[in-house]
Amino acid sequence: MSTILIIEDEAELVRVLRSYLEQGGFNVLTAYRGDSGFSTWEHKQPDLVILDLNLPGMDGLEVARKIRRHGDTPIIMVTARVDETDRLIGLELGADDYIIKPFSPREVVARVRAVLRRAGSQPTASILRAADLEIDLEAHTVTRSSTSIELTPTEFNLLAAMAAQPGRAFKRIQLQEAALGTAYEGYDRTVDAHVKNLRAKLEVNPKKPRYIETVFGIGYRFSKNYQHERQS
Ligand code: CA
Repeated sequence: MSTILIIEDEAELVRVLRSYLEQGGFNVLTAYRGDSGFSTWEHKQPDLVILDLNLPGMDGLEVARKIRRHGDTPIIMVTARVDETDRLIGLELGADDYIIKPFSPREVVARVRAVLRRAGSQPTASILRAADLEIDLEAHTVTRSSTSIELTPTEFNLLAAMAAQPGRAFKRIQLQEAALGTAYEGYDRTVDAHVKNLRAKLEVNPKKPRYIETVFGIGYRFSKNYQHERQS
């Protein structure tokens, strides 16, 4: 059963949508504010988000941006203003559909089904592109400006984990878990050693890393300057 998260501050609208979606066989989560909506998304990982543009707590656009920074959940944006839609599309937030208020709940359920069908039929992304790097998650290969870079499996896993979420700071223990499949406190320096080797191979100037940044007191992150495109 697919789970739909509705982030909308008009209680009556939420009630109606919820009831139609539930009758349509969906599991429904709701949030009445942008900030709590994002946190629900983070914790529950719904299959699709219906997102109102004007929200208290955090603007719908900001919620969409934050969701997009961390994942590919399909988003249907809801706006009360016809003249907003051009701007929304122009922002390239990666919203999958737009609905203008007032709308019929039946129509929303139909759109939800269509977006989910499209999302489900798309193969999962297997290539991450960030600036001049190309990371093929299936072939386990990395190229920089079309030059192949040889990485060990551990280095590859480290890079793939970080590059999948540019800008997210990872703790050493999280990276260790992602790359080595183990997470023991006290093995922190192992990650540092792998990152050092990874930088030596990846970076043009390992002393001034562009891709993998140190986050003092935490660990490492893939630079958010390199928002990637996903390709299948
Ligand atoms: Ca609203």
